[in-house]
Amino acid sequence: MVLVSLRRLAQASLNPMSDTPQDPAPTPEKPTPSPEEITRKLEDFIKNSLGGQVIFSRMETAASKLTPEASGEPELPEPEEPTAAYDFHYKPADIKAHLDRFVIRQDEAKKVLATAVCDHYNHARMLREHDKQKTGSTLEFTKQNVLIVGPTGVGKTYLVKHIADLIGVPFVKADATKFSETGYVGGDVDDLVRDLVAKANGDVQLAEHGIIYLDEIDKLSSGGEGRIGRDVSGRGVQTALLKLMEETEVALYAPNDMRSQMQMMFDTRKGRTGREVINTRNILFIVSGAFSGLERIIEKRQVKASIGFGAQINEKPKAEDLLREARTKDFIDYGFEAEFIGRLPVRVFCDPLSADDLFQIMKNSEGSLIRQYEREFHAYGVRTVFEDDALRAVAERAADEKTGARGLVTAWEKVLRDFKFELPSLNLPDLIIDAALVQNPVQVLERCRIDAQSFSGDSRADAVHSFASQFSAEHGLELVFDAEAVRALVQRSEREGAGVSEICVRLFKDYPFGLQLISRSTGQHAFHLTREAIEQPDAFLSNLVIQSYRSIEVPSH
Ligand code: ADP
Repeated sequence: MVLVSLRRLAQASLNPMSDTPQDPAPTPEKPTPSPEEITRKLEDFIKNSLGGQVIFSRMETAASKLTPEASGEPELPEPEEPTAAYDFHYKPADIKAHLDRFVIRQDEAKKVLATAVCDHYNHARMLREHDKQKTGSTLEFTKQNVLIVGPTGVGKTYLVKHIADLIGVPFVKADATKFSETGYVGGDVDDLVRDLVAKANGDVQLAEHGIIYLDEIDKLSSGGEGRIGRDVSGRGVQTALLKLMEETEVALYAPNDMRSQMQMMFDTRKGRTGREVINTRNILFIVSGAFSGLERIIEKRQVKASIGFGAQINEKPKAEDLLREARTKDFIDYGFEAEFIGRLPVRVFCDPLSADDLFQIMKNSEGSLIRQYEREFHAYGVRTVFEDDALRAVAERAADEKTGARGLVTAWEKVLRDFKFELPSLNLPDLIIDAALVQNPVQVLERCRIDAQSFSGDSRADAVHSFASQFSAEHGLELVFDAEAVRALVQRSEREGAGVSEICVRLFKDYPFGLQLISRSTGQHAFHLTREAIEQPDAFLSNLVIQSYRSIEVPSH
């Protein structure tokens, strides 16, 4: 019995360096077979000539990876024809305004990043124009690579991602620790650049204007305060990055990656003999880290200086205030190479987020997690209202976690876990998420079960929800009736001898106008209707309008 790895054979048939005899070079009429086709043909050929004597192995080995789908890795895209040069036309204020829609606080970082990005891409354009003129002179240009200092979960990645989305350049993020862990430095670092090409769908010119974002850069410090664990390769990674951050050329096809080499072969055989290197001159590098302990270095330096001048230091400054005072020398003392830190001329600080900031993120960011939860419940036909008191309670909990906005996901998951599981089966179309639910989810879920039981099979309760669905379809706004409101409507219908839908139309005739007004000024799109709304609909609506104006007037922090 013979075991044949078809992948290996297919690979060998495509590999010009292999000992295996090769196919003749394809004629233009004959399209290049894919590795899958070759595998299939080999399989047929071996079966026909050797019958059942041979067992076919489709087992993958790391070295024989031919198809990226099989390995679950993203496919290296087929390089396309070069497109027109990347065109940049933003002003710093445009970028800041875009960021304001998604990112709460971090004003300084927004401004500094927006300006650095504009400088970078305007320079790139000028350099291109200058190159075209072929004057022979050189245009001086210092790259505006950026260093962001700030704790985890405060929006550093979020800022960079939204900038890249807005200006339409590919964006790659990696943790610097990944390089130091492997011990195999150069290749991995170059992969970042190749990843940009993948993100740009093979458009090398666009990739050459992409953004590479490296987090946890503080872990690359060699020695000094910042060093964590026994890592000694931080210095090596710094050196490898240095070259990229300045200007270098990276091979488009990784020399020691089989997949990349296969791609090169296909491209060459298909006559795509375009670019083989990627130039990093116009790639913007943004690096970040929490730099815990850096504040002690800064403080020591300041104390030393103040002793020299005979000054008194009275109050101990906060860590984030100290970090704002960081100088190049402090980063060197922290364990960075002077050349490395020197290539990061733009430095900016992101603030820790308070409970109030976390509340604003949920309430006002266009990317708010709350919208996501609303969509998730909506998928089961459940309308939700997240009340402000619930958002505040969760914001407090999340702030205690000290993981920035990431703590919000953890806190909400804990609160909503059982509701997400059980509510879709209860046939209860409304859920009010208020502080009571956050404090005691078990009790509120039990209440939901009882309500679901009492409304089950009641056509009048169903009519309330049909009215809400119709209202939502017509006006794009959600009316979320709590259980008491549904009961009040049913009672009113009995008392007046009229149908529930008829009563709803009458009671809420002014609601489309009033709620649109609120929605336009506050962005609120789901409204909690209580028993009071059924008993005194007009007073209830005017109260909502007044409250919404108040919420705009009162500054959030
Ligand atoms: P880091 O600072 O560690 O890079 P991220 O930017 O990845 O943190 O933040 C994680 C998530 O938290 C983001 O995807 C975003 O949803 C949310 N987030 C963090 N900070 C903010 C902020 N300032 N404004 C709005 N959302 C934020």
